[in-house]
Amino acid sequence: MILSQNPATGEILASFTSPDGAEIDRRLARAAAAQRDWSRTDLPARMEALRRIAALLRSEAAQLGRVISLEMGKPIAEAVGEVEKCAWNFSFYADAAPGFLADEPVASSASDSRVVFDPLGLVLAVMPWNYPLWQVMRAVAPVLAGGNGLVLKHASNVPQCAVAIEDLCRRSGLPDGLVTTLLVGSSEVGALIRDPRIAAVTFTGSTPAGRAIAALAGQELKKQVLELGGSDPFIVLADADLEAAATVAVKARFQNTGQSCIAAKRFIVHDHVADAFAEIFCDLTRKLVVGDPLAEGVTQGSMARISLRDELDAQVQASIAEGARLLLGGRPVQGSGAFYEPTVLDHVTMAMTAGRDETFGPAAAILRVGGVQEAVQVANESVFGLGAAVWTTDLDLGARLSRDIQAGAVFINGLVASDPRLPFGGVKASGYGRELGKLGLREFTNIKTVWTGPALV
Ligand code: NAP
Repeated sequence: MILSQNPATGEILASFTSPDGAEIDRRLARAAAAQRDWSRTDLPARMEALRRIAALLRSEAAQLGRVISLEMGKPIAEAVGEVEKCAWNFSFYADAAPGFLADEPVASSASDSRVVFDPLGLVLAVMPWNYPLWQVMRAVAPVLAGGNGLVLKHASNVPQCAVAIEDLCRRSGLPDGLVTTLLVGSSEVGALIRDPRIAAVTFTGSTPAGRAIAALAGQELKKQVLELGGSDPFIVLADADLEAAATVAVKARFQNTGQSCIAAKRFIVHDHVADAFAEIFCDLTRKLVVGDPLAEGVTQGSMARISLRDELDAQVQASIAEGARLLLGGRPVQGSGAFYEPTVLDHVTMAMTAGRDETFGPAAAILRVGGVQEAVQVANESVFGLGAAVWTTDLDLGARLSRDIQAGAVFINGLVASDPRLPFGGVKASGYGRELGKLGLREFTNIKTVWTGPALV
């Protein structure tokens, strides 16, 4: 049984029975058949289908946004924005995928040699709840564009979102089963990866689950893309525009109620400006409005589950016991929902919990450093390497540091964000492979060399 529960109230919204083995087998067979047909569908027709999905997402953004907010607690305005971003992604690939998939002739000793991009087959997507539409749809669009099908095992706390995704794809006119949702728990993932009808796996979620999935897929020699946890550094150098940096910093830490892989989690600030930065950051954080995710003007919703809120609180308390200074918040909000006070910790070090581990909720850690090199060293001390931000008015220095920082993306004077046009992914314990852009599409293609003789002499 999979339950849909509103984390802001505790109310059970719906319940779903998981399919048994025979039903999973039937759905996989249908998905595989749909994918075979789809792989033979010409590119313009595939792109038309992507455009229809984009249109449906746009026209149903309000209803879908409400499902997201009710199921995982984010403010409704953010949820509607998430649906609109999914629509953008489908429109982007509908326009750009034909170019990304075009044959690439390469000069060689053949009379003609070229690289072509063939479909891989059915891609299993194991996905998290934090952006329950975006995380999935950012994979669905390129996977479909490349001629593949997708089987979704979504996080167990967002079953209504999972069902809505399959339903929307079907109503857009995609072949039945080409995007298939299986409402199953994580214990079923191994059997799905081993199933011969699954060709590859895309996983977004925590680092421990990523290790487990990588081991399973590795055993089967199936391609994987792993988008895992992060503890992004947000470096503020002494010459930075502090107002701008602190304004973006608050958004970078607290949007999505702090539950984002690319949220800035470690604010690494030069000693000379650390007091001033902390003051502006706290002033702006105090303006966040915590409350009912469906209410207008609320900027901090509920966390997605009580257990996640309690884990965050334990990390905050541990960091204080280890010597961090609490500037703001630091407690669950009283009541039945999974709300947590926007929290700011100062004088954090990499030996403390909030420096070392990923904090997946509304708690910011300020780490003070004495100079530029120390800032980079502290940034790289993390096991993670997803995104990073550098704030400086010296753009040459920013460009140099962007090469020294171990991360999948470095944003100079900006908010780290995913963008359909740019590749997204991490290094180190944040995973491997890329989503989005040209590279994200090519991850799930067979990059095939076609050589035609006779050889030129
Ligand atoms: P999670 O616990 O790893 O769950 C993610 C998905 O994996 C869910 O569908 C879950 O199913 C499944 N799962 C969990 N353990 C598994 C296992 N041992 N074997 C197979 N499947 C397993 O992560 P989460 O709490 O939902 O999401 C938060 C994490 O995701 C954070 O670490 C965050 O940084 C990361 N994340 C990364 C990115 C990125 O792009 N790099 C984006 C968003 C989130 P059940 O729900 O049924 O347990």
